Amino acid sequence: MTDTHPAIRVSEIFGPTIQGEGVLIGLPTVFIRTGGCDYRCSWCDSLHAVDNQFRHEWEMMPIDAVWQTVVTLSGGRPVMVSLSGGNPAIQPFRALIERGHGEGYRFALETQGSVVRDWFADLDVLVLSPKPPSSEMRTDWATLEACVDAAQEKPQIVLKLVVFDESDYAYAKGAAERFPRLPVYLQPGNHTPPRPGNEDASVDLDGIMKRMEWLVEKVTGDRWFDARVLPQLHVLLWGNKRAV
Ligand code: SF4
Repeated sequence: MTDTHPAIRVSEIFGPTIQGEGVLIGLPTVFIRTGGCDYRCSWCDSLHAVDNQFRHEWEMMPIDAVWQTVVTLSGGRPVMVSLSGGNPAIQPFRALIERGHGEGYRFALETQGSVVRDWFADLDVLVLSPKPPSSEMRTDWATLEACVDAAQEKPQIVLKLVVFDESDYAYAKGAAERFPRLPVYLQPGNHTPPRPGNEDASVDLDGIMKRMEWLVEKVTGDRWFDARVLPQLHVLLWGNKRAV
């Protein structure tokens, strides 16, 4: 049978491993990392899936091929599939989600919320991760709100915010106030992110954990009792290693 659905631009598919951050932390997951992003965050930890100089590593894969890879990796047992990137919202995921749901799989997508898709309503989990000032990106709040609206309250929607400093923290509080019904997950930023081809470079875990402690003190000191503060578990376990 011919696959008539649009192909997906894939950087890598890997797993199962555990989800390292946010609302699904610790959950066994297969990751589909897409290639390409409309942002260029100063501290991006996935440049190999963002920067055009790595385009030759990306592959336009038909839905059938993407799905067969997921099924092979999971041994045919339904597992959570994380759609990440880059910005996975750029890619045409509707048909893949429909196919996976038919076989009992679940789908989470993480995006900065700069591109709206009506198939967000087909997801099981939508993680909106607008980027704070330290990223040097600007948030289009109206587009972020449109992402929430597109999901139509069907998937679980959460906010995940990376915090490096006081102004990021203030941004996170402002974002939470804009979306009072969404659970908020905060995580300390990794100031020694991987550089493509040099993923074995050491990560400053002490610095990250100091930022984590500071963040806990900020949240508790502010009596911000419905925020959750989590580290990036995969960074604690594997540093900057890729595809874990
Ligand atoms: S939005 Fe995410 S993938 Fe894109 S540049 Fe920023 S951190 Fe990297």
